Amino acid sequence: MVNLKEPSTKFMKVRCNCKNEQIIFGKCATVVNCLVCGKPLAHPVGGKSQVEARVLEVLD
Ligand SMILES: [Zn+2]
Repeated sequence: MVNLKEPSTKFMKVRCNCKNEQIIFGKCATVVNCLVCGKPLAHPVGGKSQVEARVLEVLD
């Protein structure tokens, strides 16, 4: 079960539409952009990351 009240402090592997795979922090403070195409992958919402890309894996 995922406790939504607890801020995520995990790293996540996400894949952009351009096929770039990138590790992002689950609690970003600023917008995280794709290193290849510059598309925003995640932005901070209420202290955690709102991920806009496809999450491939959550890393412990
Ligand atoms: Zn990209």
